[in-house]
Amino acid sequence: MKLKLFVCNPFTVNNYIISNENNDALLIDAGYYSNEEWETLQNYLTLEHLNVKACLITHPHIDHVIGISALYQKYNIEILMSEAGYHLYDSIVDVADQFGMEQVEILAKDKIKFINEGNIKIGDFDILVYETPGHADGSLCFYFSDEKIIFTGDVLFYDSVGRTDFITGDWDALVNSIKNKLYKLPDEVKVYPGHGNPTSIGHEKHNNPFVKIN
Ligand SMILES: [Zn+2]
Repeated sequence: MKLKLFVCNPFTVNNYIISNENNDALLIDAGYYSNEEWETLQNYLTLEHLNVKACLITHPHIDHVIGISALYQKYNIEILMSEAGYHLYDSIVDVADQFGMEQVEILAKDKIKFINEGNIKIGDFDILVYETPGHADGSLCFYFSDEKIIFTGDVLFYDSVGRTDFITGDWDALVNSIKNKLYKLPDEVKVYPGHGNPTSIGHEKHNNPFVKIN
């Protein structure tokens, strides 16, 4: 499996593209915003001959979802997210206004595929979806057990954790999600967060200053 990172939009979100030997690809989050960012994505997909199957959304904060509608229109791909966060996604036009971001469109609810905790299969990709509330309603983490990698959105970062002071944030829920779900994974699992550098479950379990297990 191949992993590509594009850091996008004024909030410097990590958008990931994973692809397999059949050239099937999945997108993790949809933070593509500027023309240049869209071109970079398009060029990469063309150059690598990738066939994008779906886009998995870690959580519905504007920086992770601003490109959903355009992605759907350009590539006609499935957009997968938690229904628990749809109400936040539905409000991003107002949020965009506050930040002076333009041309933000919402994808209608009936065009989104809602997913819950559990195993899902997309093409040859096997994904274990975790519901990890605390940072925002509808926060999901995506674990690829064959590759031992997990995409944690804004739940767990390198030496840090997600903020809980936004609407629907909940510190106790966040700690519970990290301790009782993410930290149950093997130490060697590599963590790809929604912002900043990658890390590992083992490193965070023993060193994270906010949620540590001794
Ligand atoms: Zn967030």
